[in-house]
Amino acid sequence: MNENEDFDVIIIGAGIGGYSAALRATNYKKRVAIIDKNLLGGTCLNRGCIPTKALLSYARDYNKILSMYKKEIFASIPYINMKKIAEDIQKTIIDLRKGLSYTLQHSGVKIIYGNAEIINSNTVLVKGFDNNIQKIYSKSIIIATGSKPMIPKIDGLTDVSFNDTDSIFLNDNIVMKSVLIIGGGIIGIEFANAFSMLGIKVYIIEKAKRLLPDFPIEISDYIQKILRKKGIEIFTDSSVKSVSEEDEEIIAQIDIYGQMKNLLTDKILLATGRIANMEIASGNINIINDGKNICINNNYMTNIAGIYAIGDVVSNQQLAYIASKQGEDVVDYIVKGIECHKIENVPLCVFIDPEIAVIGKTEKDFKITKQKYIVGKSLLFSNGKAVLEHRPEGFIKVLMDAYDHRILGAQLVCENAVELAELIFQYIKSKQTAEQILECVFPHPTIVEDIRKAIVNGLKRNEGVEK
Ligand SMILES: Cc1cc2nc3c(=O)[nH]c(=O)nc-3n(C[C@H](O)[C@H](O)[C@H](O)COP(=O)(O)OP(=O)(O)OC[C@H]3O[C@@H](n4cnc5c(N)ncnc54)[C@H](O)[C@@H]3O)c2cc1C
Repeated sequence: MNENEDFDVIIIGAGIGGYSAALRATNYKKRVAIIDKNLLGGTCLNRGCIPTKALLSYARDYNKILSMYKKEIFASIPYINMKKIAEDIQKTIIDLRKGLSYTLQHSGVKIIYGNAEIINSNTVLVKGFDNNIQKIYSKSIIIATGSKPMIPKIDGLTDVSFNDTDSIFLNDNIVMKSVLIIGGGIIGIEFANAFSMLGIKVYIIEKAKRLLPDFPIEISDYIQKILRKKGIEIFTDSSVKSVSEEDEEIIAQIDIYGQMKNLLTDKILLATGRIANMEIASGNINIINDGKNICINNNYMTNIAGIYAIGDVVSNQQLAYIASKQGEDVVDYIVKGIECHKIENVPLCVFIDPEIAVIGKTEKDFKITKQKYIVGKSLLFSNGKAVLEHRPEGFIKVLMDAYDHRILGAQLVCENAVELAELIFQYIKSKQTAEQILECVFPHPTIVEDIRKAIVNGLKRNEGVEK
């Protein structure tokens, strides 16, 4: 057993939620310890946001070359080496992890590697990789233990080699000719889009009636068409009944609206959601959960005073930017007593081609609350930047209050939609009206011009509407 140590804040989990909390605490000159049983950076850096977006970046580059080849600008198509892509993605991850490690250490955060267990309201027991055991103490403990893949019950699954969102970027797992992706939510679609753009045959099985079931129907339908155009075979309202393996090929028996069909594929990727890592306390300490997440109050405190929880372990919207905001907010509360605000207007983003971002109120929300609204839409096919870059697909839709013309929401399906969502966020937060936005200049040629165009179209359509 090591010497025992006291800290102002102990954080369990060095993912984006945990390390954001750690860095915030050092801004207040607090003594901070962060513990992780795996790699610094957690899911986002090592298995999630970063590798998936790196994969998409290769896919986009390759597709630019492909389209130039089709126009005879390039004379040949280069061969894609997925093994090298896998290696390069790992290099990116390692570089970013080194940067994170440097930042944490130079901010004075003590990094401890090992499995953490809360044994009472102010004590954490850490079992290190070298079997070294130490106890550390603090009046404030933050649980930021994240999530792990949910493995669905499918006959034969445990007898075949399959990948989930934790394992797909390991070794050569992305080297394949075909893949069956189970789950048509954000993560499943992001993988499907990138793999298909890299020449891999992709099948998606989704049990809901449409892809992206949490998004407006218009977006689901639009994206489904775009993905099908890329050659992806999509089965909605369908499920995988059983899987088996023969001669290194996987046979999946799928149920498509009651009709059975066999699919042959190289690999299976489970994108069926993630469950919270809640096994953190032992002995006489009982941190209450609702079966899905650790329960917390408005300031992220659990049922035990001094023990807090943030990130995927508490959120039903598992997003890196929610985890990091919660990490900062909880530290502001612990150190300064600043009450945490509800995080609102969180953009829902999908990194595919074209990108998708949905932010603020949707038409469905207005129909429920019977609030009068204006909708302005612009189609990207006449946007200079979109056309010159050969990416004319998509639309921008802006939703405004019918009376004062404040911006209340937007749906963007276009290049850079995710970055543009931040602009809409600022419009909503600062209660900007359509007229105030139209006083501004929009650089040309840009995609952002079409936000202006959508607003103008909306106001035009609304002329003469009773106020
Ligand atoms: C494929 C994929 C793509 C994604 N893409 C995006 C994206 O583009 N944008 C976005 O916003 N979100 C994305 N996400 C979601 C995002 O990665 C998560 O919301 C985010 O990482 C959650 O952060 P966290 O800090 O709560 O948990 P995590 O990042 O999961 O970190 C938890 C850490 O706790 C450690 N830990 C757990 N238990 C213990 C213990 N007992 N002792 C010590 N350490 C422990 C784990 O080892 C882990 O490192 C993606 C997720 C996946 C899977």
